[in-house]
Amino acid sequence: MKKTSKETSLLIIYTGGTIGMVHDPETGSLVPIDFRYISEHVPELKKFGYDLHSVSFDPVIDSSNIDPGVWVRMADIIEERYDDFDGFVVLHGTDTMAYSASALSFMLENLNKPVILTGSQLPIGLLRTDGKENLINAIEIAAAKENGAAAVPEVCIYFDNKLSRGNRTTKLSAEHFDAFNSPNYPFIAEVGLHLKYNRNHITLPQKNHKLIVNKVFNTNVAILKLFPGITRNLVQAIVNTKGLKGLIIETFGSGNAPTYDWFLEELLRFIKKGGIILNVTQCHGGSVEMGLYETSRQMLSAGVVSGKDITSEASVTKLMYLLGKYTSREDVIKGLNRSLAGEISF
Ligand code: ASP
Repeated sequence: MKKTSKETSLLIIYTGGTIGMVHDPETGSLVPIDFRYISEHVPELKKFGYDLHSVSFDPVIDSSNIDPGVWVRMADIIEERYDDFDGFVVLHGTDTMAYSASALSFMLENLNKPVILTGSQLPIGLLRTDGKENLINAIEIAAAKENGAAAVPEVCIYFDNKLSRGNRTTKLSAEHFDAFNSPNYPFIAEVGLHLKYNRNHITLPQKNHKLIVNKVFNTNVAILKLFPGITRNLVQAIVNTKGLKGLIIETFGSGNAPTYDWFLEELLRFIKKGGIILNVTQCHGGSVEMGLYETSRQMLSAGVVSGKDITSEASVTKLMYLLGKYTSREDVIKGLNRSLAGEISF
């Protein structure tokens, strides 16, 4: 059907996840079904008056199985259909949604249309589902216009009445409907009686810049979460991993780590081999401040890079993206120190 110029057209991309799952009558466990299930269970979609189209992954993917190859598939669909639609809603499992949203924010350079990821804690076919509300509001937001342009031209996550910047979001709860948080950046919109946009915190695109889709990720990265009692053997095994290019260390508090000689020696050895180390806090809010305590000053002198207030999800996807894009260590470090898509504050 040809759309009229007045119509708002949206593409819903169903990748998988609980939002489209049913109980397998034989095993009792949750299994994914195809996209038709969603449209059957949300007849409200027809009332929107938007020109809604959908594509479904086949087979659909539980988000624990999503990897950079799948991010590229999502970005490919958006790139191929970019000119045909006013916005995109990506239905995705909640478990790794914050990783995919972060990855897409780095891949889709000069984005000027909304890409809203959502999912649900309960399958959409269940009476108490949170999936309907999430889907309906995500569609509303993806369609929203402000002076003729997209109101939210960013990669965002909509969940439980809140819209947050994708690369600032983290999954907090495997139980509550209020499953996501944006610890270091205000919500982009909040939904109550009204849909209130936090306009000062929405990044507007540069005019006339064409969409560029970056599709190369280098997965030779690791995350090392520190804990009291961590052994040299473990740290050594990680930094000596064959091919490892980037290491994120999840540190204590404002970026602190043990001052044991052996710990710094192992980090230095890795950096001297050309490795890059990014310091990200394991706290659920706040920022790394290297040099504030002796326990981070030594890492700073060793050449460890501060992750500032980045989430763990954004840090690993950003590192993979930068290592995929640049061969020079300096360029990767320069990228880590900059905000590429609003993922860190200054
Ligand atoms: N395991 C599911 C997934 O992430 C959970 C969910 O959708 O909430 O794909």
